[in-house]
Amino acid sequence: MRNLTLDGVAISVATEVKYLGLTLDSKLLWRAHVDAVTSKATRAMMVCKSLAGKSWGCTPRILRWMYTMIVKPIVTYGAVAWYSRATIGTVRQTLSKIQRLACVCITGAMRTCPTAALEVILELEPLHLSIEQAAKRTLLNFAREGFGKGKVLSSRNRDKLGTQPPPTLKLSVSLGTFHSIFQAEVYAISMCPEINIRRNYRKERILILSDSQAAVRALSSFEIKSSLVRECVERLNALAEVNDFQLMWVPGHMGVAGNEEADHLPRTAASSTPIGPDPFLAVGPNTIKEMLRRDNSKLRELHWLGTMGQRQAKSLLGGYNLSRYRLLMDLPKEKLRIITGFLTGHCKLRGHLHKLGIWSSDLCRFCDAAKETPLHLLMECDAVARRRYRSIGHVWPREEHIHSLSPGSIMKFIDTLGLVDVL
Ligand SMILES: [Zn+2]
Repeated sequence: MRNLTLDGVAISVATEVKYLGLTLDSKLLWRAHVDAVTSKATRAMMVCKSLAGKSWGCTPRILRWMYTMIVKPIVTYGAVAWYSRATIGTVRQTLSKIQRLACVCITGAMRTCPTAALEVILELEPLHLSIEQAAKRTLLNFAREGFGKGKVLSSRNRDKLGTQPPPTLKLSVSLGTFHSIFQAEVYAISMCPEINIRRNYRKERILILSDSQAAVRALSSFEIKSSLVRECVERLNALAEVNDFQLMWVPGHMGVAGNEEADHLPRTAASSTPIGPDPFLAVGPNTIKEMLRRDNSKLRELHWLGTMGQRQAKSLLGGYNLSRYRLLMDLPKEKLRIITGFLTGHCKLRGHLHKLGIWSSDLCRFCDAAKETPLHLLMECDAVARRRYRSIGHVWPREEHIHSLSPGSIMKFIDTLGLVDVL
């Protein structure tokens, strides 16, 4: 290695090299890469942060958009190569600092507010899970249907459907668990030319009927996005070269011979076991998207439940909640800050201020009998029971009532207690 020269000049050995945006180190530990993306993402987040202040600038919705569309892709880029690095505890902590910066910037939460609770409020999974998801998406895309442009299918010979004898061959094939209805329809059509080609038909009049408009449209479309459709078009073209062939759409349940019967056949196939490893067909993009979404929501919920402490936030927030997040994103900055503080317990109520050493007593200002926390005010305090009923509709709400409360009614409750200026 030391003696390698080019034009008489010795080539020096580098321990790090940047290739396609990934920083590779000599031992492939990805330490340098993580350091590089962390500082790059932090710089980008600081730029986003400078676009908004406490009462001016970008709305929380725009800030969240900037984080997910600009900052997060910097981190998740090339994840399939280095995601194993993100499973290390210290790396997770480094990554969570970036997300924390974003969460605090979007919500305006207190410095003490835990990141996990803010992630639940903002519907963001922890960053190490985003990296895992990105890696999974890339890997699954290898099994996905390909892209490409196919030939135009001739449709010049479509004449009226005459009386046809009922089909003699009945076939049902099980496609495993990952296929979509569209894929099954296209697969069924592509089986027809395959069987006909195998039978070595020549100069025959062949008519293929399908009641799937989507499949027929995809097969006659100029642009073909799915390799399954392309394969089907190729088979149909091969059949059409030596036969008089037509593909026709027929409306379902219209008394076409064989159509009613074809509707019953899938039941036979569904109960049988497919031959070969699943996925039997290349997995469609929507199926992959849905699988990843389900996987992600399961993992992030487990992460949230597994975080230590945060009794207040766990009781008040429950878990991830999409409709609550949407309503929160419609709120102005100041209200979002107040509600975030209230729902996480990290707000200027006496219980928390006492913990920080700012207030002498932690007792409730209304009943003077218990620690003043959001949980106490929302569920236990006798002194505000009537006001609680007026604003949230329950005198003694249970945790599930609290989880389903809209941000609007929580804000109303805070308002009736006269705490808006305090918080
Ligand atoms: Zn009280």
